[in-house]
Amino acid sequence: MKNESVNIGVIGVGHLGQHHVKHFATLPNTNLIGIFDLNFKRADTIAQKNSVNVYPNLESLLSEVDAVSIVTPTPTHAIIAEKCIMAGKHVFIEKPITATIEEAESLILLAKEKGVMIQVGHIERLNPALVALNPYNINPKFIEIQRLAPYTARGTDVPVVLDLMIHDIDILLTLVNSPVKSISASGLSILTSSVDIAHARIRFGNGTVASIMSSRVAKDKVRKLKVFQRDLYATIDLLLGITEVYNIVSEPDKNPDALMILPFHYEKKKRFIAYNKPPIDSVDALQKELENFVRSIQGKETPIVSGKAGKDALEVAMKIQQMILEDLH
Ligand code: NAD
Repeated sequence: MKNESVNIGVIGVGHLGQHHVKHFATLPNTNLIGIFDLNFKRADTIAQKNSVNVYPNLESLLSEVDAVSIVTPTPTHAIIAEKCIMAGKHVFIEKPITATIEEAESLILLAKEKGVMIQVGHIERLNPALVALNPYNINPKFIEIQRLAPYTARGTDVPVVLDLMIHDIDILLTLVNSPVKSISASGLSILTSSVDIAHARIRFGNGTVASIMSSRVAKDKVRKLKVFQRDLYATIDLLLGITEVYNIVSEPDKNPDALMILPFHYEKKKRFIAYNKPPIDSVDALQKELENFVRSIQGKETPIVSGKAGKDALEVAMKIQQMILEDLH
């Protein structure tokens, strides 16, 4: 369907789903056919705002679309996605792909059988501050990630590992090109009966170590990533969109883009620290992600985050969650 517009429906138009609707309504090569939400009042409000049709049930929406975005609470992803895939529809599933690994595996198999695509909403992959690292030769030895958020009731249907930490697990699996070798983790329940604060130390086969911390008990939002490797240190503020890179270089003249170059002495050798602050594109990551979904259905691109990538992140998240639960008991 290279030059045909894609007929799309959105299932679940709550906090995030409303933004899917807004983007699909204006994306090129896309016909937003309609929306479905179990909360009919909410569906009507979003429909009026975006001049789009509301469908009374999933089946009636599915009969008119090529693809859907599933933006419902995580425990419902598997059952809804299964119905959509069975009907031969491509699915964009918000992160995490599903609540269990078995569900993710069975969806991936089913999609293969039905010849449809699964894309997963690990949106941080498109965060311009992370994308700004691409020109650098990134081969991390140590990574530290912190993601904190004030408490909201949304997302508490899953532990913080599946709600927040899974974003950073996906980033890690992208930055470190090596299998996970070992994990140790601990966590706490503070406000809910589930895990609200989690810390994990992950060692990869190539020796890279990562320390990731997520909490939904915080005053302010924080999303920070630090990458350390031989002769390079980078800090990325995923929330504020700031990337800073400190490289050790031998020849300052060969780094014309550096904002600052300072001498650095070690073992009687003089080298230089080059400070770079690469420009950050002002793109809307969700718009880009959904555009990638449409273009992938048209066969013009491939999904940035496949169903398999969504399952890989979930597998690591589940191991961390399991360890935390064992540690708590
Ligand atoms: P929400 O509770 O605000 O909205 C969910 C909506 O789904 C509600 O309107 C609800 O009525 C509807 N719904 C529930 N069950 C349904 C069903 N069976 N069929 C149709 N509609 C149904 O939740 P949210 O914060 O928008 O989160 C939705 C999903 O998006 C979750 O999986 C969450 O993890 C994910 N999410 C991802 C990001 C990200 O950064 N990628 C951010 C927030 C949320």
